[in-house]
Amino acid sequence: MHVAWRFVTGLRATLNMLLKWDCGFCDLDTLPVSGFFNARTREDTMMTTWSKRTKAVHTGTRRSQYGEVSEAIFLTQGFVYETAEDAEARFVELGDDEFIYARYGNPTVRMFEDRIAAMVGYEDCFACTSGMAAVTGALTALLQAGDHVVSSRALFGSCLYVLEDILGRFGVEITLVDGTDNAAWDAAIRPDTKLVFFESISNPTLEVVDVAHVVKAAHAVGALVVVDDAMATPVFSYASALGADLAVISTTKHVDGQGRMLGGAICGSRELIRGPIETYMKHTGGAMNPFTAWSHLKALETIDLRVRAQCDTAMKVAQALNGHAKLTHVRYPTHAAHPQSALASAQAESGGTVLAFEVAGGRDACFKFINALEIFTISNNFADAKSIVTHPATTTHQRLPQDQKDTLGISMGLIRLSIGLEDPDDLIADLLAALDQV
Ligand SMILES: *Cc1c(COP(=O)(O)O)cnc(C)c1O
Repeated sequence: MHVAWRFVTGLRATLNMLLKWDCGFCDLDTLPVSGFFNARTREDTMMTTWSKRTKAVHTGTRRSQYGEVSEAIFLTQGFVYETAEDAEARFVELGDDEFIYARYGNPTVRMFEDRIAAMVGYEDCFACTSGMAAVTGALTALLQAGDHVVSSRALFGSCLYVLEDILGRFGVEITLVDGTDNAAWDAAIRPDTKLVFFESISNPTLEVVDVAHVVKAAHAVGALVVVDDAMATPVFSYASALGADLAVISTTKHVDGQGRMLGGAICGSRELIRGPIETYMKHTGGAMNPFTAWSHLKALETIDLRVRAQCDTAMKVAQALNGHAKLTHVRYPTHAAHPQSALASAQAESGGTVLAFEVAGGRDACFKFINALEIFTISNNFADAKSIVTHPATTTHQRLPQDQKDTLGISMGLIRLSIGLEDPDDLIADLLAALDQV
């Protein structure tokens, strides 16, 4: 392979002249030096004007000398060097598409990193073992003792733990605010604030943050903005367009989309990702494994179709349930009954795949309703192809002290639905029939 590659390299100019080989996808002059054959260069596919949907299928593809159509799994820990000098050179400076150890980077993982970054509108990405590895990595890489962080209060439980317990233990000061209150953000962000963190749409109460406002307030004092973008979905993500410095994504959710793999991604500028983020992640061991990256690459080919269908169904379900006699507070971000629907609709084309509502009658009524559902699976995850029903107060948020549950609106009557890929009419019929049992 290496010999063959040297041969090709040597004949590049001649071949280009003789063959005038430019199929739009490949140009021998711009082939990456590591020898992926027939590859678009990273820049070719990152910087095109292709829509997200096209990028989700093609961006980042590298082909080996075999010219495979479907992305290869490079299930390898290490990489071989032709000579001692080559090894030394690789350790002096690692070029694009050069690897030394899978904890630092791997060709299959790099394909996924380029593809998800391009899709959500960032220059680069570091792929992680899970969404929490991405959140923890992004925050820990950028913060040190004495730094001040402002965060929305309505956070995923593990994110709250990382901020308050872990970063708190290492001397980072945290101020929690009501993420829906722009004045609260303005009051909490100080001249010495280092970083601002929030979920673009919170889980499970679906609070919507005014991203442009918070970004402006943070950037005015030089603070970095890190958005946990799981609920917004990569298809409808607006973190990049509205100026967030980093988007951290639990790819466990809509990227996998079929309840199989844990994964995470930190997306941002090349400077941040290949600077402090990569340095921290490669030494602390949170890199995604190649099999997950490969599975995610395949999943990205269908993400646009899947997520659009799920979001359309979620809106239909919200419309069908809103005004039901046994329910209050039907919340779906872009549905008119959501108190922030104008903001949600201005920020994104769709409100995502999750909705929430309250069942009159609290825990007992909720349990009767949940147990009467036939299609919805009782579980605590979301963004699966299978629709899921969750009772947050007794499961995902059980450990939260009562006063915090009250502040966040996680009542005994709250139900969260994750909408899957089933027929919308079947789901609505299932929900209405179950409500009859309450
Ligand atoms: C699921 C989730 C996470 C954690 O992701 P994992 O892949 O489970 O580690 C973080 N933030 C939000 C908003 C999530 O929904």
